[in-house]
Amino acid sequence: MKFLQDLTYEDTEKMVCDCGMPKYRAGQLFSWIARGAKYDEMSNIPRELKEYLISQGYGDEPIRIIKKLTSNLDGTVKFLYALQDGNVIEGVLMKYKYGNTLCVSTQVGCRMNCAFCASGLDGLVRNLSAGEILGQIIAVNAEYGSGTVGNVVLMGSGEPLDNYDNTAVFLKNVSDPRGLNISKRGISLSTCGLCDKMRRLCDEGYTPTLTVSLHAPNDEIRKKIMPVANSYSVNEIITAAKYYFNVTKRRVIFEYSLISGVNDSKECAVELARLVKGFPCHVNLIALNSVKERGLDGTPRDKVEKFKAILEKMNVSVTLRRSMGADIEGACGQLRRKYVDGTGEQ
Ligand code: SAH
Repeated sequence: MKFLQDLTYEDTEKMVCDCGMPKYRAGQLFSWIARGAKYDEMSNIPRELKEYLISQGYGDEPIRIIKKLTSNLDGTVKFLYALQDGNVIEGVLMKYKYGNTLCVSTQVGCRMNCAFCASGLDGLVRNLSAGEILGQIIAVNAEYGSGTVGNVVLMGSGEPLDNYDNTAVFLKNVSDPRGLNISKRGISLSTCGLCDKMRRLCDEGYTPTLTVSLHAPNDEIRKKIMPVANSYSVNEIITAAKYYFNVTKRRVIFEYSLISGVNDSKECAVELARLVKGFPCHVNLIALNSVKERGLDGTPRDKVEKFKAILEKMNVSVTLRRSMGADIEGACGQLRRKYVDGTGEQ
C-alpha cells in the first residue's frame, strides 16, 4: 500500500509533471497532504490529478486514531492508531510549558528485544513507511488543530535506524517548509546505538537531536539488558556520538533508565561520568517504568537522586526526566500490548 504522505516534495512534482499539469500544483498538493486532507477535500486540485494519483495506487489515509486516553495527572494523551493493514501502533502527546511534543513510532514492534521494553516482546512485525510515520503527526494535528505538534521525538515503538530509509524520508518531509515545517531543532531521534547508521545519518546531512539509549556504563552490564550490545560496544557508541557532534555541532543526549540492582550503583554512576566526560553531551535519567512481562523494577526515588548527584559532582550535564502519563500506560509498547492481547478495556 502506498500513501500520499509517503511522497517527498520532489515526488509530488514528478507526479504533477507526469500528469501534464503545471508545477505550481505540486505546492498545492503537498500542502494539502501535510494537513491530512482526503482527496475529496482538496478543493483546488483538478480531478485528473487526483484520478492519476489514485490510478498510481496512492491512498489518502495511512493511519487513523482509534483510541485516546488522557492522563488525569498531567494531561498527557496516549493514542492508539490503526494502520490500513489492521496493525496497531501507539503514540503519546506530552504537554510541556514550551509546547507539545509527540512521541512517534517507526516500526510495528521492534527486533532489538531490550530486557526492559514492552515494544520488543513480540519481535518486529514490520517497518512503518515514511507516510505512516508522518501520518501520526498529521492525525494528531487534525484532531487538535494544526500546529498542535511542535516537537517530535522518535521514541515510540521501533528502532528508527533499523528502518533507516523510511526514517530518512520522514526527516526530510517533517521539516519541509512547504509541508509540516517542524523545526529541525524540534526533532529528536532515539536509537539503541546502531553506530554505522548514526554516522550515516549525519554524513547524509540529517541533523536531528540524537538521543542514544545507553542504559549501562560498560559492555558487561549492557549485554545483560540490551542484545544490541553484542554488536556494538559502549566505546564504539561513544566514538560514533562524538563523530555525530563533530559533524552536526549538536549535543548528543544519552538516555539512562535506572533499573533496580542492575545499573544503578554508585560505581555505575562514576563509570558513566568518566565515559561521557570531555565532549558536549547530556545525560537524561529516568527510573525504569516497570513492564509486568519483563520482571525488572525502577530504582527508588532517593537512589535516583543519589545517582544524579554523583554525575553532577563529576561535572556531567544531567537531568532527571519526569515520568509522564503514569496512569495511562506511558511506557513503550504497553498500551498496544494490552490492546492486541485484549487485556485492556476498549
Ligand atoms: N529504539 C529506540 C527508540 C525507542 S525506545 C531506542 O532504543 O532509543 C525510547 C526510549 O525508551 C529508549 O531510551 C528506551 O530504552 C526507553 N525505554 C523502553 N522501555 C522503557 C521502560 N520500561 N522504562 C523506561 N524507559 C524505557
